[in-house]
Amino acid sequence: MTRTDIASDIICENISVAEDGELLFAGQSTLALAEKYKTPLYLMDEDRIRERCRTYLDAVAEVFGDRGHVMYASKACSFKRIYEIMREEGMGIDVVSSGEICTAVKAGFPLENAYFHSNNKTDADIEYAMDNGVGFFVADNAEELYAIERIAGERGTSQRVLLRITPGIDPHTYEAVATGKVDSKFGSAIETGQAREMTELALSLPHVSLEGFHCHVGSQVFDASVYLATVDIMLGFIRDMRDALGYTARRLDLGGGFGVRYVASDPVIDIAANIRLVGERVHSVVRELSIPMPDICFEPGRSIVADAGMTLYTVGTVKKITGYKNYVSVDGGMTDSPRYVLYGSKYTVLSAKNVYEDRDMNCSVVGRCCESGDIIAENIDLPENIGRGDILATLTTGAYHYSMASNYNRIPRPPVVMLSGGDSYVAVRRESVEDITALDV
Ligand SMILES: *Cc1c(COP(=O)(O)O)cnc(C)c1O
Repeated sequence: MTRTDIASDIICENISVAEDGELLFAGQSTLALAEKYKTPLYLMDEDRIRERCRTYLDAVAEVFGDRGHVMYASKACSFKRIYEIMREEGMGIDVVSSGEICTAVKAGFPLENAYFHSNNKTDADIEYAMDNGVGFFVADNAEELYAIERIAGERGTSQRVLLRITPGIDPHTYEAVATGKVDSKFGSAIETGQAREMTELALSLPHVSLEGFHCHVGSQVFDASVYLATVDIMLGFIRDMRDALGYTARRLDLGGGFGVRYVASDPVIDIAANIRLVGERVHSVVRELSIPMPDICFEPGRSIVADAGMTLYTVGTVKKITGYKNYVSVDGGMTDSPRYVLYGSKYTVLSAKNVYEDRDMNCSVVGRCCESGDIIAENIDLPENIGRGDILATLTTGAYHYSMASNYNRIPRPPVVMLSGGDSYVAVRRESVEDITALDV
């Protein structure tokens, strides 16, 4: 048997291979983890998450000193343990709902260091966020500003607010995750004059304290020039608002979006180098426009947690439709891995017991939900002899998997098992069918 060259499958340093070909994650045996915790199973490499936080925090501190802030966009992966890790690492967080706020509260996260996002904050969410002392609201639109004003007014307080601005940038990513264009459902566009109107409105509201501006142009972005263009436009907007309204923003949030590797053809991003580039641009444009240096925030989600995750499945049916197509069915699917259905996303899928084995069968790895679109990965190569009981691993599943998981077909969600320093522990237990039926009255 020839040994498959697997160098290109090692898309992150926390993936390795044992002497006998077994796939290892964070140095641990994937087969032993599947045996111990059962499948489907989300694994999260805690040490990798911490390393990514430090990469951001160190780079931002180097470039912006104490004017730099890193907020983890917790929608990427949200459960109690994650917020504890963020607290321990000294990260800020983004939250978008009462559910995320509640989870962060349970982790003892200091919410004065949180931004409350969303394009449609309900009154109940606004109340809940204020009850729990969320530091900053990122207001998307005028109705929201009025609602914040009214509720803060009722409480006799003042709420710190940033305005979500659309700089009018196409980040060259998938349409569904592009958010910075003029016609986006998020924010107010500079081009249409609405961003200025929002600024005037915010300044006129007595219970709103305008801290500055926010933007987020998209996700899975690999091109640093997208951020440089964003810096130019947003700092230009700060200058324009100063000249037109005499208002100088104290804070500029540049959003998240740095890309990660799902497959070998995705480029490697040097986050520290990108932040340095952005930093140089910010410093030079601030000088050029003669505006005071604002605090600068980044909001990475995916790039903090994505490659810290791996999903393990057990193979069930292998269906070979002679002359057409081969299907390998696993014990999970779109319920735990929804990104294929949403965006047609690509993944690297490996056979855990021996990654060196010849991959002589082209197939689609599919889930067990009643949908033809329930696909984990299409047109990939796996060993011909793969069969019932074998373990498959999908790589880079730490972001937008657990947090987007559903109970379609009343399938319970997998547990999240954390890996750290050679040990493992359960951070989220496996859902049971009793959990699923518990809400039915
Ligand atoms: C989703 C989101 C992020 C994080 O995006 P990633 O691509 O996961 O880094 C940051 N800011 C806002 C406002 C977002 O909606």
